[in-house]
Amino acid sequence: MTLHKLQGPYELTVQQVEHISSDPCCGVFVLGDIDEHGALVAKYIGMANKNIGKRLGDFIDKYPYFKIMRCKKPYDAFEKQCKIYHECSLFSKLDNPMHPTHPEEESWICPVCGK
Ligand SMILES: [Zn+2]
Repeated sequence: MTLHKLQGPYELTVQQVEHISSDPCCGVFVLGDIDEHGALVAKYIGMANKNIGKRLGDFIDKYPYFKIMRCKKPYDAFEKQCKIYHECSLFSKLDNPMHPTHPEEESWICPVCGK
């Protein structure tokens, strides 16, 4: 499962966000709570084109935990986001149930469903 390849879960705190922001890069992240086994229960999937730490900062106090994967190129982040979305939507109720969208200036298509 793609979700298992992400780092974390980490607590979503100001300190964590500052730490991640200190090395800006694109990537994909999953927000949610943890279950009794310490595994993240995905509630929100997102990506960042430039600074994943800055984007995570928008969700402090909204979600207690997160997992991330830093990516080399924005397309890699988009592709991972789609894969996680299709895996998670099968077993978890997401707060953003819409299919991930690509940046306006790109014409990427989802590697899983072709949307
Ligand atoms: Zn898709």
